[in-house]
Order: sequence, then structure tokens, then C-alpha cells
Amino acid sequence: MNLVWFKRDLRCDDHEPLARASQGPVLPLYVIEPEYWLQPDTSQRQYRFLLDSLSDLAGQLAARGQPLWVRVGDAVSIIDELIRTQGIEAVYSHEETGNGWTFARDRALAGVLRQRGVPWHEYRQHGVVRGLRQRINWASQWEALMAAPHWPVGDLRGPGAGPLEMPPDLPMSDTTPSRVQRGGSAAGQRALDGFLAERGREYTTAMSSPLSAGRACSRISPHLALGTLSLRRTVYQLRRTEAADNTWARSYRSLDKRLHWHCHFMQKLESEPRMEYEPLHRGFMDLKPDPTDPVVLQRWIDGETGWPFVDACMRSLAATGWMNFRMRAMVVALNAYHLWQPWQAAAHKLAQRFVDYEPGIHYSQIQMQSGTTGINVNRMYNPIKQSRDQDPEGEFIRRWVPELAGYNSTWIHEPWKAPANIQRASGGRLGEVYPEPIADPVQSARQARDKMRAYLHAHDLAQEAQRVLATHGSKMKQPRRRAVSPAVAPQQAMDFGD
Ligand SMILES: Cc1cc2nc3c(=O)[nH]c(=O)nc-3n(C[C@H](O)[C@H](O)[C@H](O)COP(=O)(O)OP(=O)(O)OC[C@H]3O[C@@H](n4cnc5c(N)ncnc54)[C@H](O)[C@@H]3O)c2cc1C
Repeated sequence: MNLVWFKRDLRCDDHEPLARASQGPVLPLYVIEPEYWLQPDTSQRQYRFLLDSLSDLAGQLAARGQPLWVRVGDAVSIIDELIRTQGIEAVYSHEETGNGWTFARDRALAGVLRQRGVPWHEYRQHGVVRGLRQRINWASQWEALMAAPHWPVGDLRGPGAGPLEMPPDLPMSDTTPSRVQRGGSAAGQRALDGFLAERGREYTTAMSSPLSAGRACSRISPHLALGTLSLRRTVYQLRRTEAADNTWARSYRSLDKRLHWHCHFMQKLESEPRMEYEPLHRGFMDLKPDPTDPVVLQRWIDGETGWPFVDACMRSLAATGWMNFRMRAMVVALNAYHLWQPWQAAAHKLAQRFVDYEPGIHYSQIQMQSGTTGINVNRMYNPIKQSRDQDPEGEFIRRWVPELAGYNSTWIHEPWKAPANIQRASGGRLGEVYPEPIADPVQSARQARDKMRAYLHAHDLAQEAQRVLATHGSKMKQPRRRAVSPAVAPQQAMDFGD
């Protein structure tokens, strides 16, 4: 009998391991791993999304004749036990580009399977290439995978119903707010269909403002992260829709490009897993010698910085589990530059808030926005300019920072500049009802720029930047970008961002 180990591929549609394994009797297994859920980048909202998705997957498998088995514990020991008790002859799964914890667990399993002489067949579901040294031909390999035939799964034969274990309450610190997206393939398909049929119309113009992005973006990210949607099917459906009617060609092409970025960024973590913990460009190891200031970190993640637009973004994220790209980039850059904090602890805090946490995209983007890749143009966002550009009337701020609801659009972006009588008339003095700004946004940006410049002058970063570029840089044409201050001036940065 073949064992199919479901990990972050919780669907039956276009599932190569399941399709191949089901040539014979098959035992479909998911293991809930309590230790994983104690890692600093995991959270209850992600776990809830998982439980929704498992329930949906269980329905899909039962309809095909072989129910899902769910076990709780250490995946390596459980699979080892099933090999002995169920006569498992081979293990099938998708390759996973996860965090350091899942990487170590997979290596441990590979050791056990080797010892037992049981083959482990792993298949690609994303454009990530294992063991890749250079990005030559990477884009064409991505296209080839997307164009390859899908893997439909028919009726299944197997041992029948098995355990459906549920863990006792896991000691996770957060709770799941009601507005967080629901998991499962059906929900993922609805999100994609809704985007292609209706919501994507304004995609390219509406994606940057948090007022419109929640509706205008596809919202498929958590479904790609847990594999409730197949990336290949998504690309196929997108291109088929465009071929039938290209009225929204700009929206479709823009999404197509981003689905490519999905794998482009994941490839970086796959190729260099240490980037979860340390700067991709080793020359930036000493950029922030001091540890994270816990008070600053907490004010930042809780939306208590006293920068109204930033706080609105963070509070909205806490309530919904999602944030658009521009705002993710802005809050990370503010942490790295204006607040001059290391990125590692902030990366964990944000990951926990994201229902769509995808380590490969997350750490690559965090480093890019924090200026530690050495090959990307550094972007310092001015939080006040972003506020005026993306939320000119202060509508988003009033929704998420009710303490400022009484401020009009003249003062709401920088309430600390309002005269005392206006502050009183608008709901109360700053510092009493709402925090004073954590830093002066203009001055702190200037200081950060000076510190970056001094660091770049004091260190020879060019050789390592060449290495990073050679390993991770895309060989595709670079999109035009606006520079603020390049980390490594002479480098030809070829990478994607916004
Ligand atoms: C600091 C930071 C951290 C991020 N962390 C994550 C994360 O943990 N998980 C995650 O899925 N995305 C992450 N992103 C990328 C991006 O913000 C989200 O993919 C996007 O906001 C998800 O919403 P959507 O599905 O509606 O996106 P859409 O705009 O509709 O895009 C569709 C899909 O394309 C991919 N995509 C879009 N933008 C990017 C991008 N810039 N880089 C890579 N892939 C992209 C995603 O798979 C996304 O679901 C991060 C970005 C930043 C700046």
C-alpha cells in the first residue's frame, strides 16, 4: 500500500502524488504536529484555516472512496509506525519549501525511510527547483511546469476509514478574529472565480490602497500557501479566461506576473534556507548590532505607533489576517529604517498575523524591504505621504483607529501637528486618547539614510552582492523601479517587488 502524506497541498485536484500513488491501494494521511504549532511564526488563525481545509479535503477524499486519516503527533514517528503496521511500501508527497522546522523534520523522515528501505517519491507543485545553483532557464522551467498536463484523481482504493484524531487545545497565544478568510478548496475556488469574473476589474489601479485592495486583489494567497488551490490550475484558469475575453487584459497579466513571483521568491529560501535567520547578503550581519527593542516591536505590531495610517494597517491586519502588498512593504520598511530595528523578530510577529504565511515569500520580501539583500533598490516609505496618497480622506484611518474619528482630513494624517484646541475638539489630547508619534517620520528617515550610507561606505559589499545576484537574481528583464538609496550602488539589481 502507498502512503500519501498531505502537507501544504490540501486538495485532490491536480495532485500528482495522489494520482500516482492511487495506481494501487492508498492511505491518505495528514499529521497535525503540535510542535510545529509552537514555533514563533505560527498562529491560531493559520491553524483554523488548516482545520477548515482538512475538513474540505476529507470530503473530497471520502467522495472518491478512501477517507482521510488524521493523526496527531510527530510525523516521523507516525509514518514509521504506519510503515510497520499498515505494510506501507512507498511514501508519496509534494516537495515543501517550509520553515527551518519543517525542513529539519523532512530530513529526519528521509533518514528513517532510507533505513527502512521505503522509497519517498516527492513531486513539484510550484515552480521551485530543488538543488538549483543558478537561475539559468528558471523562467522557462516555470512555464513548462505550468503548461504540463494536470493530474486528475479518480476513485481510490485503500484501507477504509481510519483515525480522525484532533489535538487538545494547542497553547497558541492569539485568537482567530471572525473576519479571517475560511480555508478549503471550495472557498479558494470561489475567491479565484470571483476575482476573474468581477472583482479583478480594477485590480491594477485598486491594489495599492488598503481601502480598495481587500476586494480588488485575488485573495487566493492562503489557498496557495496551504495548497487548497493548485497553482498550475490557477494559471491555467487565468490564461483560459483571458483567451476567451481579454477586456481586463491588464488585470490578468498583472496577476499572471505575480503568480510567477510567488515561485521566484520561494526559490530563494529553497536555495538558501539560512535566510530565515540571517541576512541574505552576509555583509549586513552587523547592520543592526543591538537586539530588538521589545517595546518598539509591540507598539509596531499592535498598531500603537502614533502614526495613524500605519496603526490602521496593523489593526486591520490583526482583525482580518490579510494586508495588501504595498502596506506589507511599508510596515516592514518602517521597522527596518525609521525605527532601526532588526527584521527577525518583526518577521515572526507579522507571519503570525498572516493567514497566508508562506515562508519563502515572507522572508525574501522581509529582507528585500529591510535592505539586507544587497541587490535590491532600498525603498524608504514616508508613512505620511502613503497616508495622504492611499487614504486621502482618512476613511481607512477612522475605520481602524476610532480614537481619531473626530479628526478631519486636514489633521488626521498627522494629528500631533494639530493645535491643542483642535485636538480637544476632535476627541482629546494626543498622548491621552492616542499615542504621540513613536518618532518624527522625516527626521528618523534622514537618520536611517545616514546610517545606511555610513555602513555602505565602511564595508566592502560588492563581492557578496555579486554572489547573491548570481544565485538569486532573475534573468528576466527588470521592471522599472523608483530608487531612494541603493544598498550597493554599482549593482545591477534584477529582482521583483511591487
Ligand atoms: C513583507 C512582505 C511579506 C509578505 N509575506 C507573504 C506571505 O507570507 N505569503 C504570501 O502569500 N505573500 C506574502 N507577501 C506578498 C504579497 O503581499 C501577498 O502575496 C499578497 O498581498 C496576497 O494577497 P492576494 O492573494 O490578494 O494577492 P494578489 O495581488 O491577488 O496576487 C496573487 C498571488 O500572487 C502572489 N504574489 C502577489 N504579490 C507577490 C509578491 N510581491 N511576491 C511574491 N508573490 C506575490 C501571491 O501568491 C498572491 O496570492 C509578502 C509581501 C511583503 C512585502
